[in-house]
Amino acid sequence: MVQKNDRYRNFLIDQNHDWKLSYDNYRNLDQVVERDLTLNGWKFRIQFNPERIRSSAAKVDRGSITARKCFLCTENRPEEQRHLLMGHDFLLLVNPFPIFRIHFTLPFLHHTDQLISGNFPALLEFALQMTGYTVFYNGPECGASAPDHLHFQAGENGFMPVEEDFETLKIQTEYLLHQSEGLKIWAFGNYVRKMISFEFERAEAGVSALEYVTSSLGELQPGKVEPMMNLLSYFKEGKWIIHLFPRKLHRPSQFFEEGDRQLLISPAAVDFGGVFITPRHEDYEKITESVILDIFNQVTLDDEGFQRLRQSISKFQREVI
Ligand SMILES: [Zn+2]
Repeated sequence: MVQKNDRYRNFLIDQNHDWKLSYDNYRNLDQVVERDLTLNGWKFRIQFNPERIRSSAAKVDRGSITARKCFLCTENRPEEQRHLLMGHDFLLLVNPFPIFRIHFTLPFLHHTDQLISGNFPALLEFALQMTGYTVFYNGPECGASAPDHLHFQAGENGFMPVEEDFETLKIQTEYLLHQSEGLKIWAFGNYVRKMISFEFERAEAGVSALEYVTSSLGELQPGKVEPMMNLLSYFKEGKWIIHLFPRKLHRPSQFFEEGDRQLLISPAAVDFGGVFITPRHEDYEKITESVILDIFNQVTLDDEGFQRLRQSISKFQREVI
């Protein structure tokens, strides 16, 4: 869990002293309405969070992206927004439109496309450095509202149900596909959504497994800039834990409906982690167990693709490092 005096939390407190917009939005989180649902025995939380409309409804087509000023580039960020340097070439910023009580964005210093390949070491480094937080990644076609600027996000552990669920899931040995010294890979096909989980003690071994699995997923989706996915990453008791959610669709059909039939839900890493963000109150009220199931069925990788991915993972031979 997040320590009371950790530097990231203190950074957020300092930032909110002199940035009213951010201060107000964190204070408003106290009024954010949430309720829980249970689906096949797994817990989901629904959060009504009006400030997230920017992200859920963000236009991420190439034309709209080129026409706007990138909000992660230094020259376009608000004057009040401070930063911490992370490693040599990433920054840590307070996310002024939070879902978590402590919510950061970690953009790369330069304006370059959102792509995970080659950036797993950074993801793992931040998870380690920010123990107590979950660092996450939304693919360019899977919820990133800046698909043109490489970035991660981070929020405190304990908020997304998946972290606790995994402790129950991982002991069911039938899901374990690979085990070698200090590295395990599981594939969970009936966890409402589909999930590949990794647990490892050495970053190099983890990076090679992650690159292997994403490249296997890429073979199922030729023509994509990168295989469709969301990632969650955290460091716990001496090990990294990564959850990869393979996708086949960005937004469900309900997003494009009109009037009463519309649901403004655009699933990304946090939704896959078990917290559905609804920026409009009517959607918050409408969402039910069957809606969640239907949305996941639409956006998660299909059974056939998952089966092929499983076969590929079971052939993974760890290089001796
Ligand atoms: Zn940029």
